[in-house]
Amino acid sequence: MDNKMFCYQCEQTAGCAGCTGAIGVCGKTADVAQLQDELTGALIGLAHAVENAGYLPKQASRAIIEGLFTTLTNVSFDEKAITRQIELTHAAKDAISPMCASCASPCGKTNDYDLNRIWGANEDIRSLKSLILFGLKGMAAYAYHALMLGFSDEEVNMFFCEALCKVDTEDTMETLLPTVMKVGEINLKCMALLDQANTQTYGKPQPTTVSLHVEKGPFIVVTGHDLKDLQLLLEQTAGKGINIYTHGEMLPAHAYPKLKEYPHLKGNFGTAWQNQQKEFDNLPAPILFTTNCLMPPKASYADRVYTTEVVAFPGATHIGEEKDFTPVIEKALELGGYPEGRLRGFFRGRLVKIENGEKPHGKKAGPIRAFGAGQREQGDHGEHARQQEKQVGGRGKEPEAALRLKAECRQAGDRNGAEGQQEGTSLPVRFSLPCAGIKAVAPVQEQGADGQDDDGENMGGAAVFVKPAHQQDGIGSQSGSSGSCPPGCGHDG
Ligand code: SF4
Repeated sequence: MDNKMFCYQCEQTAGCAGCTGAIGVCGKTADVAQLQDELTGALIGLAHAVENAGYLPKQASRAIIEGLFTTLTNVSFDEKAITRQIELTHAAKDAISPMCASCASPCGKTNDYDLNRIWGANEDIRSLKSLILFGLKGMAAYAYHALMLGFSDEEVNMFFCEALCKVDTEDTMETLLPTVMKVGEINLKCMALLDQANTQTYGKPQPTTVSLHVEKGPFIVVTGHDLKDLQLLLEQTAGKGINIYTHGEMLPAHAYPKLKEYPHLKGNFGTAWQNQQKEFDNLPAPILFTTNCLMPPKASYADRVYTTEVVAFPGATHIGEEKDFTPVIEKALELGGYPEGRLRGFFRGRLVKIENGEKPHGKKAGPIRAFGAGQREQGDHGEHARQQEKQVGGRGKEPEAALRLKAECRQAGDRNGAEGQQEGTSLPVRFSLPCAGIKAVAPVQEQGADGQDDDGENMGGAAVFVKPAHQQDGIGSQSGSSGSCPPGCGHDG
C-alpha cells in the first residue's frame, strides 16, 4: 500500500478506517502526521529515561503532557511548533540521562521509538497499543489544563511514563490489556483532577442561561478549553470596551461563578467546533484558540486567528507564555463588531427539562418497557454516532417503547433548545427536566435504527421524548405534577 501517512486516531478518520493520503480529513498534512509520530516516539524515549532514572523531573513531566497533547487532533498543524516540541523532549531526556547522547556503546534503551512498529504490527497488538496511545493523548489534555491552573498528580504523571514504556516493551495481548485497562482507571483520576482544578479556581458551575446576542462594538471570540487563558483575556480587556464571546468548547466557562464576575463576558457566539469555518467566515472580530478543535482557517478570517498554548497553525499569530494578548485586543478594536443574537441555555449536573418529542412519527405509543441511556460526542454525525444510537435502549435493539436518556458532549448542538456540556469530568447534559405541567410520560417518538429522525436528519440524540399529560393515556406517572402545561412549554393541547 502506498500510503503517504497513516492516522486513525479520531472519529473523523477517512472511511472510518484511516487517513492515508497527502492530507487527513482534519486538514493535517502527511508531513505534520509524520512529525507527530516522531514526537510520540521521542516521548517514549523520554519515558524510558525516566523509568531508568527512577524519578520524574518537572521539565520531563511537562514535556510529556504537552507533547502528547500536541499530537491530539485539531491542535497543532504547525511543523515548526512540533519540531520545537521534539527538541524540547530530547532536551528533557538529555537532562535526565546526559550520558546517553554521547555514549560510545549505546544500549538503545532510551532511543526514540519508531511508530511504524505499531502501524505494521498485527491488528490485535496494533489495536491495543493504539488504545493506550489514544487514551494517553486524551488524558494529557485533561492533565495539561489542570497543570495550567497549578494542579497536578504524581500518580497520573508517573503513569504517562509507565504506559508509554509499555507501548515499546510489551508485545502480547496478555501484557498490553492490563495497561489498556489502567489507562481508563488513571484517566478517571485525571478527570477528577481537572474538575478539582476548575472548581477550586473558578467555583462550582451553576445552571446558566447564555446569551447569543452579540452586542454592538468590538469583540473577541475565544474557544478551546483553557479557562486560565479566558480569565487572562478577560482581565486584559476589562474597561477597554471589548466584549468577549465563547465559541464551541469554551461555552461551559459561563457557568463558573468567578468567570461570571466579568461583565464583558457577554455570551456565546455560534455553535460547535465543526461549524467554525462557516461561522467565522468574514467575522469582524479576532478568534483566540486556547486548545484543541482548530480547523484550517479559511482565507476570509485567517488574518484574525490567534493561537496560544500548544495550538498552532502556520501563519497564525501565536500568543506565547508571557500571555500578552495585545495583538488580539488591537485586532478587535480595528475590526469592530456587528449585532446579532438568539438565546440558548446551558446546564450542568441536573435534569433541567423534558423535551417535547411530538413529531409525528407514525408509531404508536405503548407502555414503557425500557429505559435506555446513551452518549455521543458533540459533532458526531457519522457511522460511529449511528452505532451508538442503536445502543440506546439496549445493544442492537430499538425498543418500541423506550424512554431514552441521553448524555451528550454537545457544547452547542445544532438544533433543539437548551443544551450544553461540562468541562473535565462532568458529563454533559442534555438530560431534561420536568416542566411543571407534565404529569405522565410516555414515548411518542421512535428514532430509527439508522439514527435518523423522520425528516431523514440525524437527530443529534434528543433527550427524553415524552407526551404531555393531557395528550396521552396515563401511561406511567410522575406524582405531584399538575397535569397541565405551563405557558411556553410548547404543547398546545
Ligand atoms: S487526526 Fe486527522 S489525519 Fe488523523 S484520523 Fe483524524 S482526521 Fe485523519
